[in-house]
Amino acid sequence: ALTIGIVGLPNVGKSTLFNALTKNQVLAANYPFATIEPNVGVVELPDARLDRLAEIHGSAKILPATVSFVDIAGIVQGASEGEGLGNQFLANIREADAIAQVVRGFADGDVVHVAGAVNPASDLETINTELALADMQTLEKAITRLEKEVRGKKADPAVLAAAEAAKAALDAGTLLSAADVDLTLLKEFGLMTAKPMLFVFNVDEAVLTDDARKAELAALVAPATAVFLDAKVESELVDLEPDEALELLQSLGQDESGLDQLARIGFDTLGLQTYLTAGPKESRAWTIRKGWTAPQAAGVIHTDFEKGFIKAEVVSFDDLDAAGTMADAKAKGRVRIEGKDYTMVDGDVVEFRFNV
Ligand code: GDP
Repeated sequence: ALTIGIVGLPNVGKSTLFNALTKNQVLAANYPFATIEPNVGVVELPDARLDRLAEIHGSAKILPATVSFVDIAGIVQGASEGEGLGNQFLANIREADAIAQVVRGFADGDVVHVAGAVNPASDLETINTELALADMQTLEKAITRLEKEVRGKKADPAVLAAAEAAKAALDAGTLLSAADVDLTLLKEFGLMTAKPMLFVFNVDEAVLTDDARKAELAALVAPATAVFLDAKVESELVDLEPDEALELLQSLGQDESGLDQLARIGFDTLGLQTYLTAGPKESRAWTIRKGWTAPQAAGVIHTDFEKGFIKAEVVSFDDLDAAGTMADAKAKGRVRIEGKDYTMVDGDVVEFRFNV
């Protein structure tokens, strides 16, 4: 499964956030085959459409899609030179598919800030610099090796050219996610600044309810997405009954928990989307990549479904919701038959037909 690595300076609230995530972890009963490692938190992607589908189909169970977060040790200035947890830390980030960078925005005199003061802009700079330095080292080594291999006709010159272009972009102060470089050629190097990134500002109530301040912080990381939450509040929310949790959230001017926002935005940052299936047994969201075709989507349920794909019966959730029953949606001509070239759309409710 794809994972999002949680990074940030020490004392910014990463552990507090991760603990809230694991307390909120999906029940093993729902996902009996999932092996969950101690530093991985698997959370459900909230999706109100599943409740409605279960109502329409009388489903016994609801199975949302999930998002996995990996807790990665804190980064400190000098991490790229092996300071602190250095190398192990870098190896862990390399394996993540996207990065959630936690930035401290809460003021608390009792909690020491590593750099002496709470300053989100300079913290972001520190982390991004460490990630960029680590990528430069990776690329320098790769370029030296690739030069030899290209001379011996053992490597593709296009990969060497891409590595050189990436190195030049970093030297000029551009993170690879924003650089004009063919990153698909450089996948094997696990370059960190090439990964999609989202930002979690761990703030207190004063900031949560201050839209102008949130806009300022969001501008520091744009065009990437910012999530605002109070990690301490999140860790309390997961212990409350749903109605009590909602009451607490509303008292803070929020209508969705920070963890739910993080799951939603994390999923999107990973380039994922869902499609839905529904029946008496279960209403379920399945995870696919954006842009996948119907047979690829069917393959997520079972590889045989992809091989034996014939067609898909598709109705958009909104049409089914409005019709109220499958029979009615059919009568209204809202249920389409799609072939193997169909590109899945978020919210498609699907039944596949296949040969076995
Ligand atoms: P980490 O080093 O990034 O994992 O940070 P921790 O999660 O261990 O948090 C460091 C300290 O800050 C702990 O004492 C937390 O209780 C405290 N803390 C974390 N989040 C918040 C927050 O949102 N508000 C306040 N006031 N304190 C927080």
